Amino acid sequence: CGIVGYIGHREAYPVVIKGLKRLEYRGYDSAGVMVYDGALKLCKTKGKVVGLEERALKEITTSGTIGIGHTRWATHGVPNDVNSHPHLSNSGELAIVHNGIIENYAPLKEELVKRGYVFHSDTDTEVLVNLIEEVQKKENLKLGKAVQLALNQVVGAYAIAVFDKKNPVEIVAARLGSPLAIGVGEEEYFIASDASPFIEYTSNAVYLEDGEMANISLRKPIKIRKIKDDSLVDPYIQELQM
Ligand code: GLU
Repeated sequence: CGIVGYIGHREAYPVVIKGLKRLEYRGYDSAGVMVYDGALKLCKTKGKVVGLEERALKEITTSGTIGIGHTRWATHGVPNDVNSHPHLSNSGELAIVHNGIIENYAPLKEELVKRGYVFHSDTDTEVLVNLIEEVQKKENLKLGKAVQLALNQVVGAYAIAVFDKKNPVEIVAARLGSPLAIGVGEEEYFIASDASPFIEYTSNAVYLEDGEMANISLRKPIKIRKIKDDSLVDPYIQELQM
C-alpha cells in the first residue's frame, strides 16, 4: 500500500501513475488516482496499476498539474472498485488517499450518518474525509485546520494526502504510524510513502515525523506543524543520495 501526490508544473497523471508503480513492491489489491484540471477527475479500480491505466485511458483525460494516487491494502471493506481510494467527501469537494486504519471509525460514522452524511464504501477512510468536511463546514475553516481538528478526533494510524477543490493549489499531508516523504523540487512538490516515486525529479526531501502534518502549496513555503498542539516545526530538508 502506498500514496503519491504531485503539485507543480508537470502533468500530474503520469507522475502519479509512475510513482504508484514504484511503490508496487509494498503490495496492494487496488489502485486509484485523482487529478484536478478545473474539474475533479477520478479513476479507481480493483487490481493492478496497469489495470488502472487501461481504465483511465477510457474514462478520463487530463493534463491537470495537481493530483493524488493510492495503492490499497484493504483493511475495512473488500477489495473492489468502490472501496478503492481516492475517496471523495459528500459535497464532492474533498478527496483523500489514506494508508492505515482509523480504529474509531464506527462511532464517528454513526455521528456523521445522524448529521445526514451518506456513505458509498465500507472503508474507514470515507469516514475520515467526511469528518474533515463536517469540521470544515461547521466552522468555515481552511483545509489544513479542518484536517488537524479531524485528526485530533481520530484513533489509529495514517499517512494521508488531502485535496480541496475550493483551494486547488494545495495538498495537506499528515502521518501517524505510516511513512510519508515530501520531495521538494523547483516550483513543485511530491508526496509519497517513500522517496522512490520522486528520486528522479529531486534529491531534496522532507520526511514527516509521526504526529506531523504539512501544508504543501505552490503559493507559500511548506509549513509543518504538530497535529496535537499546533506548534510549528522547521522543515528539515535533507539531501538524498542518488
Ligand atoms: N484502511 C483503509 C482501507 O481499507 C486503507 C488501507 C491501506 O492502507 O491501503 O481502505
